Amino acid sequence: MFLKDRTAAITGSTSGIGLAYARALAAEGANLVINGIMAPADAEKLRTDLEAEFGIKVVFSPADMTKPAEIAGFIAEGEKVFGAIDILVNNAGIQFVSPIDEFPIEKWDQIIAINLSSAFHTIRAVLPKMKEKGWGRIINTASAHAFVASPFKSAYVAAKHGVAGLTKTVALEVATKGITVNAIAPGYVWTPLVEKQIPDTMKARGLTKEQVINDVLLDAQPTKQFVTVEQVAALAVFLCTDSAKSITGTTLPMDGGWTAA
Ligand code: NAD
Repeated sequence: MFLKDRTAAITGSTSGIGLAYARALAAEGANLVINGIMAPADAEKLRTDLEAEFGIKVVFSPADMTKPAEIAGFIAEGEKVFGAIDILVNNAGIQFVSPIDEFPIEKWDQIIAINLSSAFHTIRAVLPKMKEKGWGRIINTASAHAFVASPFKSAYVAAKHGVAGLTKTVALEVATKGITVNAIAPGYVWTPLVEKQIPDTMKARGLTKEQVINDVLLDAQPTKQFVTVEQVAALAVFLCTDSAKSITGTTLPMDGGWTAA
């Protein structure tokens, strides 16, 4: 329970990897500010279930990560309830698969806003209090697509390369302040985000569902296994420990060997 006096704010934490981050940080005693697109009754159930299971306090914010004012409100609400955000996990993300000359302009803008710009808005909002406390952990969810590209994912690949650059820059700016800034770069993790892109990939490449899973997704991953959400969350917990305080400015792959090739 080494995070008992800490508060973690996690964008996009109602599902998939974000929910796993929330559960793993809560298991170490952190209070949570969770966020995502979810019906109010479901969000309230998730909030109270997490409080009951882990004996912590949880605030839910429905802030839309495309809207800078709502993002500022998400951090401000967390700071009002808990005093400061000690651990910021930028995780909200969406995918859209299309050849670039057919890529809808509004989808490009939405992906850049959620997957990249939202991290700029949360980071700038949490840093003053982290600097005051002389301690902070910022963990961005990048992707293997922060290192390599796949066709038909131009906005996603551009955003994730951007996340790696943002991570390095902020790490340098706060290196002497007790704040580390890193990104985790998972390969394919079985979550709703991956499941939802299968029909579009089938269409874009003219393949069956099984072919997309085995020949497109797991083809890139030498282990031939999906990464699990628990594995990704465990790395985030490690980055919060004192043992990890010299790790900063990195984008750490967890991709079954994908980017080794
Ligand atoms: P997911 O679809 O399960 O979860 C996405 C979360 O983001 C949900 O909580 C959703 O409500 C939230 N979200 C979406 N749009 C939002 C918005 N406008 N405002 C606020 N919240 C919003 O996806 P996931 O697979 O768990 O992905 C989480 C992160 O991990 C993403 O950044 C994704 O790019 C990254 N990632 C995923 C994989 C993978 O294979 N699943 C691999 C590498 C990186």
